[in-house]
Amino acid sequence: MFQEKEQFMSKEEIQKVQLEKFRKQVKHAYDNVPFYRKKFDDIGLKPEDIQTLEDVAKVPFTVKDDLRDHYPYGIIAVPIDRVNRMHASSGTTGIPTVVTYTKNDLDTWSNLMARCYSCAGVEPSDIVQNAYGYGLFTGGLGFHMGAERLGTMIIPTATGNTKRQIRMMKDMRSTVLCCTPSYALYLIEALKEEGVDPSELSIKIGMFGAEPWSDETRKHIEKSLNIRAQDLYGMSELYGPGVAVECPEQNGLHIWSDEFLVETIDPDTGKVLPPGEKGEIVFTMLSREAMPLLRYRTKDLAVINWEKCACGRSHPRIMRIKGRSDDMLIVGGVNVFPSQIEDILVGIEELGEQFQIILETTKLDNLYVQVEVAPHYWGKVDLKELANKVSTILQESLTLRARIELLEPGTIPRTQGKAKRVIDNRKKI
Ligand code: ADP
Ligand code: ZN
Repeated sequence: MFQEKEQFMSKEEIQKVQLEKFRKQVKHAYDNVPFYRKKFDDIGLKPEDIQTLEDVAKVPFTVKDDLRDHYPYGIIAVPIDRVNRMHASSGTTGIPTVVTYTKNDLDTWSNLMARCYSCAGVEPSDIVQNAYGYGLFTGGLGFHMGAERLGTMIIPTATGNTKRQIRMMKDMRSTVLCCTPSYALYLIEALKEEGVDPSELSIKIGMFGAEPWSDETRKHIEKSLNIRAQDLYGMSELYGPGVAVECPEQNGLHIWSDEFLVETIDPDTGKVLPPGEKGEIVFTMLSREAMPLLRYRTKDLAVINWEKCACGRSHPRIMRIKGRSDDMLIVGGVNVFPSQIEDILVGIEELGEQFQIILETTKLDNLYVQVEVAPHYWGKVDLKELANKVSTILQESLTLRARIELLEPGTIPRTQGKAKRVIDNRKKI
């Protein structure tokens, strides 16, 4: 098994490594990142004050806005010439969140992803088909490097081109499929349309993540494709995918806690919650060189289980992400905040102020934007042309494919209170 020792560390061993790395990481951040030095100095905290793991509670939080505020190079702790790669995800207001990696960071990330494959039951003899997006997103290259590190054959099909995807699966006899759960659902439909019986495929394991999905969806995918569907969690700020993964027990996602110190906090007060309580997940990266992140607030809500798993691993488990403490939407694996859509609509002169975002599942999750035309443009503009223009702008700035419906001014119901901007009609299978 890949990094078997790390996968099966005892609780005591984990804590020993955590404390060692944590103290080093705090010093690294303090010494090399002015942003952290100021945060510490403001409250009179010195790296030497960190003596135990509980001392993590003394450290100020880091949030996504901190990364945006330090655009373009983020919270960087090494000279640029030591950076080997960057990735980026869309930020809340159009400024992307940039993340950077040194050679060692890429190495750690590859190991974590290889560990995920291994923990989920993938072996070096497997053939991994990777249908996550390559490019600035971390998904594609994260899954790619992990498979290479593990030693499997990898087929970098990337997203889209479903016919070719199916052909590759069939002809190359891929045994592992990596994609978002929504794409897996779409593939099931596409296989039917293509007249391919899933029994003609060799897929045994699916590595599905990057968005929330239910146990019902899992059952549906497992039954339809006759595979085991494993959940995997990560985010670009924390290298990318590879933070946590399910073992074959499928009873929570093991967080690789020798690399990520995890806490659950009350999202309103910031207070650390006792084990077993649902709260916002906060991670401290334990050996990131280029971009150290201390107490990074994920906004993901979940329960952490600290009990040893039936598989023998002591790494704590995320018992499924229960939602988010902010209003971020995940549509087909793409993250978007309603405010981002609003910012773009506001900038288009021919549109009014009222809009609604509607999420629906047909084959894939779909996003519709209904928006009113500005009163003095109503009847004067070509609606089809304007809809195309809006959709192109959304696609270019948010990589989001949305269908636009333009409405007559006054059509969207006005409310006295907070406008209901998002209507989520997605079917939960
Ligand atoms: P990714 O490429 O993994 O989607 P992003 O940084 O774009 O990385 O998005 C990270 C967010 O995606 C997480 O904060 C979480 O809300 C969501 N996410 C990722 N994996 C999962 C998962 N397995 N289950 C639920 N939500 C997930
Ligand atoms: Zn387990």
